Amino acid sequence: MRRPGKIVCVGRNYVEHARELGNVVPERPLLFLKPPSAVIGDGDAIVLPPDSQRVEHEGEIGVVIGAPVRFARPEEVVAALAGITCVNDVTARDLQKADGQWTRAKGFDTFCPVGPRVVPLADLPPLPELEVACRVNGLERQRGRVADMAFDIPTLVAYISRIMTLEPGDLIATGTPAGVGPLGAGDEVEVEIPGVGVLRNPVEA
Ligand code: ZN
Repeated sequence: MRRPGKIVCVGRNYVEHARELGNVVPERPLLFLKPPSAVIGDGDAIVLPPDSQRVEHEGEIGVVIGAPVRFARPEEVVAALAGITCVNDVTARDLQKADGQWTRAKGFDTFCPVGPRVVPLADLPPLPELEVACRVNGLERQRGRVADMAFDIPTLVAYISRIMTLEPGDLIATGTPAGVGPLGAGDEVEVEIPGVGVLRNPVEA
């Protein structure tokens, strides 16, 4: 898969996940960026950095942009999407808490597994029915549906397009459902979206 020009992520977009970390869902989408250098593909290893003692998985629904989007209305957005993919927004939770902003915690090399493919919306169930699950060593840790998001996908894309031009290949990670937890060396983490496939990555020290 082509490396995205930018990766725009959404924080606290599921009520239950916001609550589990002691936060509330914000009044408007909470955005942050991950660097494109963090991207790895299906089967590549997530490497635990020595600077963190607590690296966690965040299984997410990824939206890939297909055509430029700028100041779009939500109803105009769907036509500009290339499709849906699986994303793991890997996070050094201890560094996220220590820093107060998230560039270091979210930005390590290998912290953005993406794949295994991009599937067009036409080949998937309607957006509100899309679901993401995350498993570690075969045990389910997270499950969430687009219908449970605080801000749905067209609303998110339209909102982001008021700030920055979204370009073909850009990736939006739409937030993670409840159940985030730690990863250790030797684990295997999977993110699955039915109809898209399974993104599977080993974890290494
Ligand atoms: Zn996330």
